[in-house]
Amino acid sequence: GGSRARSNGPRKGQDRYMQMKISFMDAIFGKTETITIDVDEQCSQCMGTGAHSKDDVTICPTCHGSGTVVTQQRTPFGVFQSQSVCPDCGGTGKKIRKKCSKCGGKGYEHKRVSVDVKIPAGIQSGQQLRVSGKGERGANGGSNGDLYIEIMVMKHDYFVRDGRNIYITIPISSVDATLGCSVDVPTVYGDVELTIPSGTQNGQQFRLKGKGVKDLRGSGQGDQLVEVKIEIPKKLSGEEKEMYEKLRKLQAKGGKESVFDKFKKAFK
Ligand SMILES: [Zn+2]
Ligand SMILES: [Zn+2]
Repeated sequence: GGSRARSNGPRKGQDRYMQMKISFMDAIFGKTETITIDVDEQCSQCMGTGAHSKDDVTICPTCHGSGTVVTQQRTPFGVFQSQSVCPDCGGTGKKIRKKCSKCGGKGYEHKRVSVDVKIPAGIQSGQQLRVSGKGERGANGGSNGDLYIEIMVMKHDYFVRDGRNIYITIPISSVDATLGCSVDVPTVYGDVELTIPSGTQNGQQFRLKGKGVKDLRGSGQGDQLVEVKIEIPKKLSGEEKEMYEKLRKLQAKGGKESVFDKFKKAFK
């Protein structure tokens, strides 16, 4: 086939992939993380040619620069031609008279480098960051591939994120839910005062506007949703028990139907 790319042209290296775990808060506020990676970088002295100077690069005499050799085989059925990588130059189409002293003719240097990875605020698990030129080395003077970093956001003990919104569940005593109260709710930006109105039900949600996550594209800000979980005391002091008993008697005396009685009526 004649459409195959010439093997002696510059070829970009393969991309590399890695994963990076970041904390819940770092995903919301962004961070610059410095990572250390091993990478083959183009030799700065020969610019990847592997030669001491430009004049030391000559065309391979075996393949005349094509990088491939054609062999002919005569058989009783005719002449067969086959193409293979030039054994003399290894497919580069070039020969080097004097090798580069810095890289020893390889054209690249193996380095351990520090890379600053900028994690944008609002990133989510599964999103990838591209670090240009830190992938596998290219061939024949081609550039390196890229490095792709997949972000894994760790769970938080209390906050749960869904897109731009953050969810939290707060415990409220049955007395506070009944009478109403004011609480300082934790958000990722610090405590925010929230008024729990009297008669608040278990599972009821309150919205703290703008206390969610900033959109990656900067087009908006999410909210924090606060779900109330009413906690019924498992143990009462003697005095507390007395008060509850008093309340029950008071409700019965006033002729007030209990919630269970109301429910039971439907079955009659
Ligand atoms: Zn050759
Ligand atoms: Zn070199």
